Amino acid sequence: MSSGAKLTGGAHWLPVRARRVHDVHETAMSRTVYCPTTGSHVPLGDCEHCGHRIAIDRTERTTFLVCDGAPAGKVVDLPGTPPLGGDASDTPIRGIMASQVECVARTLPFHDLLALFIDYNLSGVPVVDSEGHPCGVVSKSDVVWTLQEAVDAERDELVVPYGRGTPPEATGELGKRLYQLTAGELMTPVVFSVPESASIARAAAIMAYEGVHRVPVVSEYNEVIGVVSSLDIARWVAAQAGYVLSSECGRR
Ligand code: SF4
Repeated sequence: MSSGAKLTGGAHWLPVRARRVHDVHETAMSRTVYCPTTGSHVPLGDCEHCGHRIAIDRTERTTFLVCDGAPAGKVVDLPGTPPLGGDASDTPIRGIMASQVECVARTLPFHDLLALFIDYNLSGVPVVDSEGHPCGVVSKSDVVWTLQEAVDAERDELVVPYGRGTPPEATGELGKRLYQLTAGELMTPVVFSVPESASIARAAAIMAYEGVHRVPVVSEYNEVIGVVSSLDIARWVAAQAGYVLSSECGRR
């Protein structure tokens, strides 16, 4: 498959967007693809009985739906790394964003959030509602600042609640108060989201203006389908300048 090109008609490798939402007692997975027939994102389950579905193709980082549903003459953007020589103002973020995204519910407790950051090696996650709409972003920095403020406020014996199932009685007084906090209380509530067709330059401008390192990418239904980070943009800039980076280099 060529990367970043456009095709009309024929079979396409459509990236499957996976949104995993972590909540108190469960983790819910939602998979969607951009359907070239309807011109909108559809649940992957809708493709099961569609005559245009050809196959599922899995690579190391991405799962694709192979589909021949694009009407002849309709232009479909293919996923993948944008070609070298692209302009940041013309290159859409769909080619550089992470389309397997970890999200959290507002109700996820502090200790589960901490475990998620450590276990998945994440530096930040979108907070979403029950429909997958973004309502905030919580970062590792938010967690660190909360810990620092708590320690500064009261020099208590600190046993950090960490990991699912940590009993509150095992954490000490300060730990018990941290145990009460949720992702919804820790998050930055204002969300600056972009559609996948937004340019790399636009995403970079939002990050620079707002002082954030990641921006959720949303579908036409305002559901989170990916995340683009400042590191994704740095990797793209480096690639444009001829630096060769492995697919895993610097990934979070
Ligand atoms: S398989 Fe059918 S429903 Fe799924 S993306 Fe292709 S045309 Fe759309």
